[in-house]
Amino acid sequence: MTTTATKPKRIDYTDNQHSILYAETGGCCPLCRAPILFRKPGAKKITKSYEIAHIFPLHPTPAQKAALAGRTPPTDINGLENVIALCPTCHTRFDKNFQITEMDRIRKVKDGFLANAKAKETAAQYVIQQEVFGILDTIATMGSAIATIPPVQFDISTIEKKLRNDMSPLQQSEIKLYATSYYIRIRDHIRLLEQNDQLSIRILQSQIKTYYLEMQRQHPNNKDAVFSYVAEWISGRTGKALIAARVLTSFFVQNCEVFDVGA
Ligand SMILES: [Zn+2]
Repeated sequence: MTTTATKPKRIDYTDNQHSILYAETGGCCPLCRAPILFRKPGAKKITKSYEIAHIFPLHPTPAQKAALAGRTPPTDINGLENVIALCPTCHTRFDKNFQITEMDRIRKVKDGFLANAKAKETAAQYVIQQEVFGILDTIATMGSAIATIPPVQFDISTIEKKLRNDMSPLQQSEIKLYATSYYIRIRDHIRLLEQNDQLSIRILQSQIKTYYLEMQRQHPNNKDAVFSYVAEWISGRTGKALIAARVLTSFFVQNCEVFDVGA
């Protein structure tokens, strides 16, 4: 008797793999936001309320096979890239009421988790000059009295050209707002620092540029992600407020040739 191709087997995930799959969710079911590991009031034990769900089904039912027509299964169906922690309710709904649009949505969520993990890994490898601490502190004390800000001394169309590719209108607005509101004051502050130590500031600029390029390599068509990851790296490296880091990142977008003007 000949055997047909063997079905892939469900595997048991190790404790460390569970840790990764739990941590990437931030502790909530990615679909309904219910906590997936919690302590009931008065209880000593922790309740585990998640299951490891295959995104591309492990053993597609005939209906799922029909829905999946034309889709290529991942090379490693049990790999961590194809599984995600879901609460039992969402897991059952996803499997029993399989919709290709839902699979695509979960795939997107998972891709976001993988990108975040990669960004954290990268952020740990790239150091940043000490000077940035003081710059972020200065930004944090800057008021928002827009009326007192000197007239814009740069051409806003340059920044618009830099941003128009692969960036959402909302993200463009944020950068333009920060650049126009804070550009002059940050520039003047950095000029003062340069008088003391020009090389340190140059190193800082090149570090930010390098990190930007690395993020661009990881997210070639998503400048929103590139911008956010650069700001998160600066904030994470310094322990300073993310909003100050976003203001500073906007400054560098305008000031340096960090973002390409592009065609
Ligand atoms: Zn859920």
